[in-house]
Amino acid sequence: MPQKITAGNWKMNGTQASLSEIQAIADAAADIHSLAILCPPAHLLHRAASLPGPLAIGGQNCHHAPSGAFTGDISAAQLADCGASYVILGHSERREAYGESDSLVRDKAQAALNSGLTPIICLGESQDQRAEGRAIAVVLAQLTGSLPDDVQVIIAYEPIWAIGTGLVPSVAEITEVHNALRAQLLTTFGAAGQNISILYGGSVKPSNAKEIFAIPNVNGALVGGASLKAEDFLPIMRSLAES
Ligand code: PEP
Repeated sequence: MPQKITAGNWKMNGTQASLSEIQAIADAAADIHSLAILCPPAHLLHRAASLPGPLAIGGQNCHHAPSGAFTGDISAAQLADCGASYVILGHSERREAYGESDSLVRDKAQAALNSGLTPIICLGESQDQRAEGRAIAVVLAQLTGSLPDDVQVIIAYEPIWAIGTGLVPSVAEITEVHNALRAQLLTTFGAAGQNISILYGGSVKPSNAKEIFAIPNVNGALVGGASLKAEDFLPIMRSLAES
């Protein structure tokens, strides 16, 4: 069975003053029986990971090399050194703004695994690609190109047009993509592919979480804006635990 996971992506938001918000999420995670992961910006990782409670901590990116002359970057081993257990890779904001390719994402995922981190690999089509009827083909090509040769991964389907826009695909559209991803994971990994969690991401809110979590092969969510406040993130975590 895939693990149920609510993961929060804080992006480039938050300061030391936000640690009380992270503590509120960590406190609630103790009573909610599904895995909660928070991915704050790098400067908060160590303090967030040191807070009491079962909240797991993740980075938002890592370099594919273990160390070296890469000014401004952070390695997977350094994320682990801060107390992170997960890392988001291939987010569409990085694919777009930094030109990250599928093969680079795969190299980063392998680097994460080498340092004991579980990669959360993001995939998703643009609005034009969906309009052209290419959503499934695009997402499956990203999966094939970005996936390391290891079953210890989490997949996040995040249609680019749904991120931070308030737009959410229909239940039928999410179902179609998640079923296609599951089928591809089974082809790649055999029966073990059944245990990989496939998260949906893109404008998940307390108001739509229950409907999204009822979709087969949706094993949780990657949440951006609504993860910044415990009062928004906690109802999403609860909806998943109750699904
Ligand atoms: C994201 O950036 O990963 C995301 C899903 O953002 P939002 O929930 O704000 O759409």
